[in-house]
Amino acid sequence: MSLPFIDLQAQRKRIEAEINQAVLGVIESGRFVLGPEVAELEKQLAAFCGASHAVSCANGTDALALPLMAWGLKPGDAVFCPSFTFVATAQVVPWLGATPVFVDIDAATYNMDPASLRAEIETVVAAGKLTPKAVIAVDLFGQPANYPKIKAICDEFGLKLIADTAQGFGCTLNGKHPSDWADIATTSFFPAKPLGCYGDGGAIVTNDAKLAELVESLRVYGKVTPTDAATRNFHHDPKYLSLRVGMNSRLDTIQAAVLLEKLKIFADEIDLRQGVAERYAKGLRGRVKGVPGVIEGGRSVWAQYVIEHDNRDGLQAHLTANGIPSMVYYPVPIHQQDFALPYAPAKGHLKVTEAASQHVLALPMHPYLGEADQDRIINTVLGFNG
Ligand SMILES: *Cc1c(COP(=O)(O)O)cnc(C)c1O
Repeated sequence: MSLPFIDLQAQRKRIEAEINQAVLGVIESGRFVLGPEVAELEKQLAAFCGASHAVSCANGTDALALPLMAWGLKPGDAVFCPSFTFVATAQVVPWLGATPVFVDIDAATYNMDPASLRAEIETVVAAGKLTPKAVIAVDLFGQPANYPKIKAICDEFGLKLIADTAQGFGCTLNGKHPSDWADIATTSFFPAKPLGCYGDGGAIVTNDAKLAELVESLRVYGKVTPTDAATRNFHHDPKYLSLRVGMNSRLDTIQAAVLLEKLKIFADEIDLRQGVAERYAKGLRGRVKGVPGVIEGGRSVWAQYVIEHDNRDGLQAHLTANGIPSMVYYPVPIHQQDFALPYAPAKGHLKVTEAASQHVLALPMHPYLGEADQDRIINTVLGFNG
């Protein structure tokens, strides 16, 4: 019998009637683009994070690009980010003509290592070719990056901080959300993320009112903002005026309606994920090469449960043969992928990143993973002697 890696149907069964009703409501209203559900979702996302502003957009990649556009990133600018993450984190940087500079990770949490961040910034400053501008920290696999240390380094060097919380939306550190430290937190509503919709979607969360306004303008071709309207005299209806080069990156109203229903059970789902993670740790700690370490004071939303094994590929084949799906995130660090080669450091420079990519394996993880199924997964992992 085969298990799902992420069981979205189990969640659907829980709130099927509510979601069907919500989707139908949008279809009947006909307000498919920037309908009232979009504004309501933005309000609730900000409230969920205890932040003042949220702006939705078309996906988590645009959510990363929008603040870089708002800050006017350009060729010659450096943006520091991990290499052990989904490609989107780094790929938005060359969109703006800027240069990604890759930072190594902490071996226990897989998140950006503040010591490596400092070293990379100092190297760029010493070389004098690029101007350090921003840092993108990632909440990989669901747990918060080391924001207190990363934020202090950003302040010291005058850098903007983006929290790429596509996998970690809802995670906290000492009870605070990434948006408490970062200038802006970005997320993705891709279906497999902890808070996913029924297609593509994304959002930013920030306490910077000016930045929120600019992002909102940039997501619709640089439209006139309330501040623009108050400070300039337009001689026509400013609706079709464009003041800056932006993009078209809106969240569909239907997706907002789906997300409003999912948000109602999201906190409960985070608790359920925590229970599954604790059970994995109990069954596997000390019996495989590594189980995830969460930063002190951190609360992960467990987008993934990633273990390490010396014979990772052998273990994966053994799981597959026993009907248990698993995934390798990420088999090839970004700095070793073709698009990033112009920015790649020498082999061996990102030691922890390169080692992790050889050993990591993600096990099935979702809020509705039952105990019997989980025991089967744990026992199958323990039954591998390779
Ligand atoms: C999924 C993901 C993104 C991109 O989100 P999309 O909605 O697929 O564009 C960015 N960063 C990280 C870390 C992700 O996991």
